[in-house]
Amino acid sequence: MTDPLLPFELWNKRLFTGDWQAGPLSPTPVIEPASGNQLGEIANADAQRVNLSSEAASQAQSLWFARPYDERSLVFRKAAQLAETHFDEIVSWIIKESGSTRAKASVETSATIKALHESAGLPSHSQGEILPSTPGRLSLARRRPLGVIGVISPFNFPLYLAIRAVAPALAVGNAVVLKPDPRTAVCGGFVIARLFELAGLPKGLLHVLPGGAEAGEALTSDPNIAMIQFTGSTGAGRKVGEAAGRNLKKVSLELGGKNSLIILDDADLDIALANAAWGVYLHQGQICMATGRLLVHQAIYQTFLERLVAKAKSLTVGNPDTDDVALGPLINSQQRDHAYQLVQAAQHAGARLETGGHYEGLFFQPTVLSGVTADNPVFKQEVFGPVAVVVPFETDEEAIRLANDTEFGLSAAIISKDVGRALKLGERLKTGLLHINDQTVNDEVINPFGGVGASGNGTSIGGAANWEEFTQWQWLTLKGEAPAYPL
Ligand code: NAD
Repeated sequence: MTDPLLPFELWNKRLFTGDWQAGPLSPTPVIEPASGNQLGEIANADAQRVNLSSEAASQAQSLWFARPYDERSLVFRKAAQLAETHFDEIVSWIIKESGSTRAKASVETSATIKALHESAGLPSHSQGEILPSTPGRLSLARRRPLGVIGVISPFNFPLYLAIRAVAPALAVGNAVVLKPDPRTAVCGGFVIARLFELAGLPKGLLHVLPGGAEAGEALTSDPNIAMIQFTGSTGAGRKVGEAAGRNLKKVSLELGGKNSLIILDDADLDIALANAAWGVYLHQGQICMATGRLLVHQAIYQTFLERLVAKAKSLTVGNPDTDDVALGPLINSQQRDHAYQLVQAAQHAGARLETGGHYEGLFFQPTVLSGVTADNPVFKQEVFGPVAVVVPFETDEEAIRLANDTEFGLSAAIISKDVGRALKLGERLKTGLLHINDQTVNDEVINPFGGVGASGNGTSIGGAANWEEFTQWQWLTLKGEAPAYPL
């Protein structure tokens, strides 16, 4: 039998600085949303702790980058192996701490392993170009690490959304201070700390400091931190962007969405329905790429709506740790109240509640709203709950107008048997991710991921985009001897 990845005594009431240690603030409980049970306590960081960590990380970074590339690579291969060995334990933490179903937690853990493997390859990539120059001069453009990267991550895909930044940032030679969401600090922070600790990452290179907005704000103003990679809400992202701009830090913002799935009149109804249910209800709708609007051609609207309502009613909701359910709990009462109030407001604004709309504890019933017009708040705002917003359209032109009627621009998808028509329509959507014959929730780890408009600030993360994200160009020239300038 293998030893556990995260023995309770190791992490309880601690944070990670290379060592597992107590924090400066009182520990806070780790709560299982499905049962309300306390799973332990985490230590939280204050601004001083953030500063101590960023200083230590800065010192560790130059030594790390000086290491042979294949030594750096090895750490990520070992971390991936460890994640495979402890797969079930990691899945179990994601289920318990974030309310994920087993299927979602397994997909997240597999994506994490893939991200580690991909990061293992980064140190051996070509890191620049040879430029034409004057005779006798060698001119190189090369990629250099930024230094210390502050990563601020959310609760919904806590492990993957942290590792997708932490692993490539480290692999190309940076140090990282990670601030996971305090609601998911074990699966979204300590799992990562432990994998890298056991894989032999040098001490001080990675710090995992749970904490709320104050700890995040301390990162954005810390002088040792060169860049912030933030994934979270558009509201908090704006604040992070402002602070990073003021302090002249590079900033990558991966933010919210209100993503349309457009179903054309020639779509296979069974397929369209399966895609809609997945896009709307996966992880209780708590996904940035969740299908926030179902735009359905008038010719099939009524049949589609009736079948979606039946589908929603058939989905089971409960504790994903003890029962085989389709939907688990929402993360906490604030998130639940936000979803509930938005459904209420939608009805006041004229929407019809077809099913759902109520909750028990943190378990929110799969909901369908019809008759939603473009001036309804639920048409515009991100719900982050299991709520289908179904809107009919008559022409492709109208579908484009409805899909683009949002400040966000993260993901969009179109279902049709006529790929040419779907692509022509898709070309006119303002979106960072576009899927023809699929739904809106997709990530293959090796693709660039990022949104336009209020979904981000023009950065992308993942695959080839990681070099742009986590390094900076340096121009280097070399001559046999310095020239005699005439002045
Ligand atoms: P959130 O913005 O409340 O929190 C995200 C993280 O930011 C947490 O770690 C939080 O502690 C921290 N934070 C909050 N205020 C801060 C501040 N002023 N300064 C620094 N840090 C601060 O978001 P959430 O509720 O955890 O996540 C849901 C949101 O995240 C949704 O809007 C969702 O669409 C978005 N999201 C986007 C992506 C993406 O890749 N585009 C992925 C997942 C989630």
